[in-house]
Amino acid sequence: MTANLLDFDLEGLAAFCAELGEKRFRATQLFRWIHQKGARDFGQMTDLAKPLRQKLEGNARVEGLPLISQHESADGTIKWLFDVGDGNAVESVFIPEADRGTLCISSQAGCAVGCRFCSTGHQGFSRNLTSGEITGQLWFAEHFLRQHLKTGGDRVISNVVMMGMGEPLQNYAALVPALKTMLDDHGYGLSRRRVTVSTSGVVPMIDRLSEDCPVALAVSLHAPNDALRDKLVPLNRKYPIAELLDACNRYLVHAPRDFITFEYCMLDGVNDLPEHARELAHLLQTHRGQGVSCKLNLIPFNPFPASGLVRSPQQRVQAFAKILSDAGIVTTVRKTRGDDIDAACGQLAGDVQDRTRVDRRIAQQRTVMLKPVPADTTKEA
Ligand code: SF4
Repeated sequence: MTANLLDFDLEGLAAFCAELGEKRFRATQLFRWIHQKGARDFGQMTDLAKPLRQKLEGNARVEGLPLISQHESADGTIKWLFDVGDGNAVESVFIPEADRGTLCISSQAGCAVGCRFCSTGHQGFSRNLTSGEITGQLWFAEHFLRQHLKTGGDRVISNVVMMGMGEPLQNYAALVPALKTMLDDHGYGLSRRRVTVSTSGVVPMIDRLSEDCPVALAVSLHAPNDALRDKLVPLNRKYPIAELLDACNRYLVHAPRDFITFEYCMLDGVNDLPEHARELAHLLQTHRGQGVSCKLNLIPFNPFPASGLVRSPQQRVQAFAKILSDAGIVTTVRKTRGDDIDAACGQLAGDVQDRTRVDRRIAQQRTVMLKPVPADTTKEA
């Protein structure tokens, strides 16, 4: 089997080229062809010497994920469903805004964390994606969008959020090379502030990320106390809130932004009452006497049948946001985008219900390309 060059960050590609007896600058040229120009055929790479191109033909390939379907919303949001084998599929979502283009990427097929309100969690864990499968989502989307939007080669994606399917910090070995490729000036050249890893709170890996590749951090909090969070985010039993907030403060020392984003999914009657808001404000402002520098993002829940949960009424969300804002915490409510295409990703991946139906679902989706499906919500940039 030849090596898929999408699996490598620049260091990895340099090591691969060294094995072929090639100098480092050749790896840089190759990396730029793949990520900046979207090339997959070595024959296209005209500034590489012919013998090198021949060596690459025999030893390497540039292979993206097979596309199952693409849905485009009237508001410009685009969702792709990719086949990752064995009846599994992962999603990526592009969310255009006036001042940025955000891509939401998946890190695993399924997820082992099993958050109570998350349809990905309900489908169970299948496998980790490889670095190439993570990077491949950006590689495909960026170069597709340049053509689709006729940008004349200008970049489209300015922000990446690892908020799709899966817990990225439980796929750490594949995540880090993918992040490095996103940040590399010879790759996508994204700012660390514009690449966000979202985690349910894998404390030791938050510390490792701060050393290996500090990017913006979002934490799925969803509850103001351990008793409630234990029920909503099972990982909390292993890494309770106090440990998680300690890790957040340690991360902030290295982080490219001076705040952590806390995500809070609003569940009717579960975690959305005024007393929850007051408890949350108190927690975030007084933890260990110093609090945590943060922003809070309230997410309208996207109901799915097996959850037994209901979205909070809008008035309650606004009241909740007001209590937090009045307490001095910057609080936003996630905007709804791509309503007509079920555009959300990660914990909002609404049409997946259980593993046994995945094959049938994929088969159906192969035949309903671009057909709109019911409303949903999306992630922030
Ligand atoms: S919310 Fe995130 S961590 Fe929790 S089950 Fe869903 S994908 Fe996994």
